[in-house]
Amino acid sequence: MQALIPRLTNYNVRISPGGEFSLLVVESLSPFKWNFSCPQPGLARLEVQALANMFLGPLEPEDGIIKRTEAFLQGEKVVFQIELEEPVEAVGEEHPGLPFRLVLKFPRYPLQRFYRDKIIVLDPGHGGGDGGWRGPVNLWERDMAWRTAMAFAKILENLGARVEWTRGPEENPPWEKRSAVTREAVCFLSLHYYGDNDPAVRGTRVLYNPRSPGNRELAQRVLERIIRKVKTPFREMAPDAELAGLGNLTALRLEPATITNWVEEGMLRNPYFHQKVALATLTAIKEHFKEGGVVE
Ligand SMILES: [Zn+2]
Repeated sequence: MQALIPRLTNYNVRISPGGEFSLLVVESLSPFKWNFSCPQPGLARLEVQALANMFLGPLEPEDGIIKRTEAFLQGEKVVFQIELEEPVEAVGEEHPGLPFRLVLKFPRYPLQRFYRDKIIVLDPGHGGGDGGWRGPVNLWERDMAWRTAMAFAKILENLGARVEWTRGPEENPPWEKRSAVTREAVCFLSLHYYGDNDPAVRGTRVLYNPRSPGNRELAQRVLERIIRKVKTPFREMAPDAELAGLGNLTALRLEPATITNWVEEGMLRNPYFHQKVALATLTAIKEHFKEGGVVE
């Protein structure tokens, strides 16, 4: 009888539904032999005895745990090289069935450890009768800011953080009310979308509180992460007078895309866009404080 060599049909990286793990999933039509090792901290390697009927290029999840993965052929094997943002230890689990799945589970506790019990203020822009900017097709800034805020809230709750809202779904309180928040918050995040009368204008903008030490550097980090993750062009980074009213509270105003540009309005219809923005931002915030920020 002729032995069939297993063929890999797919691989992807995602976050488990409860948010506890970053998962690298390898699928095949039949079970395969595999070997998993960590040659050095921050680097993991999976070797699979199989052929590849799938895309072998790099993936860049940058989800706070898995930075980058690359799959390539080496002799009779497919090798997955996994670069980590945190030196966590993973375990592999086989899931029999069709397709057969190997799931490498990378725990996300470095993020949970940072966010647990910390207060994050979410300030979705506009609301109620104030729609903000309108996209060329039909989306309103008010609704997209809300959707992005919901994506932040879901991730933060999974990480054990405490979310404080400046408004409910249908309200539009004035800035004095929005900014009357607890000073114990780690970060105040105002969520808007950029708009311009010129429909050709596009890109990502991040504003920061010039009175809070380190906020410029934080804004830079958040902006870079968002741009890498959602592939929007750079628009602007600048201090913001309203945020300065928050004193030394760490505060950013995110405008992850330009809603008046039809390409970027289209991007906002994808729920993953909002999730990616939230993940990129929250990873950047954690990184910022870990590398010398003041919060503990
Ligand atoms: Zn706005």
